[in-house]
Amino acid sequence: MNTFANHCRAQLQVPRNTTSKCILDEVTRKGATAKYLQRIRQVLRSQLNGKNKIRAINSYVLPVIRYPAGIISWPMEEMKATDVKTRKLLTMHGGFHPKSSTLRLYTSRKEGGRGQVSVRATVQDETSKIHKYIKDKASTDDVLSECLRQWGTEDEVLEVPSWEDKPLHGMYHRQITEVADIRKSYQWLEKAGLKDSTEALILAAQEQALNTRAIEAQIYHTRQDPRCRLCKEAPETVQHITAGCKMLAGKAYMERHNQVAGIVYRNICAEYGLEAPRSKWGTPPKVVENDRAKILWDFQIQTDKMVMANQPDIVVVDKEQRKAVVVDVAIPSDHNIRKKEHEKLEKYQGLREKLEKTWKVKTTVVPVVIGALGAVTPKLEQWLKQIPGTTSDISVQKCAVLGTAKILLRTLKLPGLW
Ligand SMILES: [Zn+2]
Repeated sequence: MNTFANHCRAQLQVPRNTTSKCILDEVTRKGATAKYLQRIRQVLRSQLNGKNKIRAINSYVLPVIRYPAGIISWPMEEMKATDVKTRKLLTMHGGFHPKSSTLRLYTSRKEGGRGQVSVRATVQDETSKIHKYIKDKASTDDVLSECLRQWGTEDEVLEVPSWEDKPLHGMYHRQITEVADIRKSYQWLEKAGLKDSTEALILAAQEQALNTRAIEAQIYHTRQDPRCRLCKEAPETVQHITAGCKMLAGKAYMERHNQVAGIVYRNICAEYGLEAPRSKWGTPPKVVENDRAKILWDFQIQTDKMVMANQPDIVVVDKEQRKAVVVDVAIPSDHNIRKKEHEKLEKYQGLREKLEKTWKVKTTVVPVVIGALGAVTPKLEQWLKQIPGTTSDISVQKCAVLGTAKILLRTLKLPGLW
């Protein structure tokens, strides 16, 4: 900060010519902005994942702006223009959907945003920090007190409305608030390490920003038939495509479901030293067994007619502890996760009683339910702990979200870029 005080002194000693100061400011701003945009392009072209690209922007690109920010004046229009340009570059590189929420781009990842910092916020933050420094030191330093006198005005407080309150952009957030663990539902943004284009796609899906036929007809009032392009039965919404279309149920949903169940399955195998399929695309055998355990995959268990649900995704029997766990996976619409969890529990109670009676093992039913766009209930972590082996909630959530991204890309025939 001593350098800064020296800078102030230098400025005050220069004959006070407003025009030359203005020109100097402008030249500095132009130079900084050009350097900033050059670095942004460099970061966007890199192979970094979505989270690390944004970290690079915040810690490697924005300092170019921050360095001169508090010292020279920076007109609001210029800051806004540079932010618009930044978002255009993001969009061009596939990292930000053009109709996605700008507020959310600048919200921290913990709160469900992308965690980018804007030029505007950087300049305002730096300016207010320097003002605070000057205010604190003005009483003991003549030069700084002269600075303070010249500045005079109070800092403009940056008031940021929240994306959750927006009618379309915040709809998903409001829908899942009642059923999901919000922090956990967004943790894939922090921990999954997805590509920026996948992050952008899933957030756009959550924000009703994707051009589905229903959105085109209802929001943009085009003459598009709002019904689903595949089944022609229901309105084509993101919810319908990701978890409600009967044309996708047989293959696409099944594939996503099996990928998630496969993670759990392989972790159980590892726990008991049983061999699992090497490739994540390989279908597990119906039965694997050793001295310690027996694992059934999608196996129809012989029961009397009273037990309707007798083919859960996984049954694992621990022979030493005389315990069995019945696991069933579901990836419903995000607002349905709690209901689905309950449904799965109820559905397998008959099978649980049957197994306890005939196999003489203590049996637990464990639902593994993840919303198609990542929402999870507060209980998911506890459920996973009841399954032998170690399955993290982030691993299954990441897998479900990736599966959904694939379904959206294929169905909406989205190109790589928007
Ligand atoms: Zn459909």
